[in-house]
Amino acid sequence: TTLVADLNARLRDVPDFPKPGIVFKDITPVLADPRLFGRVINAMAAPFRGQHITKVVGVEARGFLLGAPIALALGSGFVPARKPGKLPHRSIVERYSLEYGADGVEMHEDAILQGERVLVVDDVLATGGTAEATAKLVKRLGGELVGFSFLISLDFLEGPQRLGRDKVTTLLTF
Ligand code: 5GP
Repeated sequence: TTLVADLNARLRDVPDFPKPGIVFKDITPVLADPRLFGRVINAMAAPFRGQHITKVVGVEARGFLLGAPIALALGSGFVPARKPGKLPHRSIVERYSLEYGADGVEMHEDAILQGERVLVVDDVLATGGTAEATAKLVKRLGGELVGFSFLISLDFLEGPQRLGRDKVTTLLTF
């Protein structure tokens, strides 16, 4: 069976989470299946093999779960992009508005070095606000944003347009 079919069989739609009217894509059944989890990591890393990615940035919190194994698969370092106030060392912040609420993302100021080739990873691309803010942090630190890898894109929210279609790879689109 294809990866897309197996993902569709395992992803869970949760209506009205975290707010009424939002249908939340729950990826936890995918993570709980070791073979499917492995196939997802390989498929999300594949377009970036041989692209000399030096850092993978994972966005809190589900971006950590996918980004860390993708970093190992690519032979890259891993960098967490966190909600403001969580990181211990000197950090830079970007604020943005979200599908459900307003938020920010923060990164250690020494997490990306000048000229590093960076891949940003998250589970779901919705409006693109989170990923766009993360990309801004990478660029502010002098990193080269090579691309974005998502498990799922909710294309009707026009995230790919916001980030630049040529930079975005996804396994599943809705
Ligand atoms: P955006 O900033 O693109 O509007 O929202 C993307 C962020 O919200 C990501 O960090 C993603 O994890 C989270 N998100 C938004 N909608 C969903 C969803 O339906 N399922 C999951 N798992 N995460 C979502």
